[in-house]
Amino acid sequence: MGDNMEPKPERRMALDSEFRMPGFDLTGRVALVTGGGRGLGLGMALALANAGADIAIASRTASELEKAAELIRETGRRVLVVPTDVGDVPAVRAMIHEVADHYGSLDILVNAAGINFRRPIDTFTEDDWDRIMAVNIKGAFFACQEVRAVMRRRGRGKIINVGSIVFEYAVPNIALYSISKGGMRQMTRSLALEYAADNICVNAIGPGRFWTKMTDAFFSVPELYESAVSVIPLGRPGVPSDLAGVTLLLASDASDYITGQTIFVDGGWLINAGVKA
Ligand code: NAP
Repeated sequence: MGDNMEPKPERRMALDSEFRMPGFDLTGRVALVTGGGRGLGLGMALALANAGADIAIASRTASELEKAAELIRETGRRVLVVPTDVGDVPAVRAMIHEVADHYGSLDILVNAAGINFRRPIDTFTEDDWDRIMAVNIKGAFFACQEVRAVMRRRGRGKIINVGSIVFEYAVPNIALYSISKGGMRQMTRSLALEYAADNICVNAIGPGRFWTKMTDAFFSVPELYESAVSVIPLGRPGVPSDLAGVTLLLASDASDYITGQTIFVDGGWLINAGVKA
């Protein structure tokens, strides 16, 4: 055990500044959020900006990114819009460098871009497979690969992958989505193991059912809404602001010794066995 690892007397420890949580302050940090034009990605970008980070957002729809940027600017932070299809690996590499060159650093990467096709297994085509894997996992993987060198130069980094409750559960009619997200869980662990050498923490968030454009058609049908909510102990779908706390935890110094983990944010769905007393 090195000198700096020696346990200190408790009286001194109680006064140490590291126990006075600097909160989740991200002043001076730069965060890139893919899928930041709307929904959960935009919510996470707003949380990061409100904590002091300068922001870059990426997705395919430039007009949506511009509207999101206007909102984020209201926090007083700087915003860079980077229209990108994350299924295109050279474009993903270019996105990382555009952000790092613009701000001079990149400390936090959030992989929130994602798509879903809701259909029975036997109807999926090879094109469906290729598209969903390209957007949900290939793009995230190469973004992480590319950002490593940028974060290494800073001596630290935080990567947050937006996974899903399907890390744990099988849900009917979304097999390809579930397979892609399952891969993302293992990707999070593999990256965490190798990137620890550069003090880069890699974690995932597992949202349960959130009401966004992705799920609007589903939640707009009263019977589907009722059936979804009936298994959520907190009795409602999630909304983007429900991810703010966990985003700040995983993006800030508060999580410096947490890596390779998934934090589920699901209103209790995962621990509900569905048994009536
Ligand atoms: P959403 O409102 O549909 O947002 C998806 C975002 O991803 C949009 O900004 C979209 O912008 C972007 N995107 C899609 N394809 C892209 C591509 N090829 N390149 C770049 N960006 C792309 O859905 P959401 O619910 O916020 O989902 C965000 C993330 O949360 C996804 O990874 C999703 O799997 C995950 N999630 C959602 C739920 C839920 O219940 N809603 C639950 C668990 C996990 P463009 O279309 O303009 O590109």
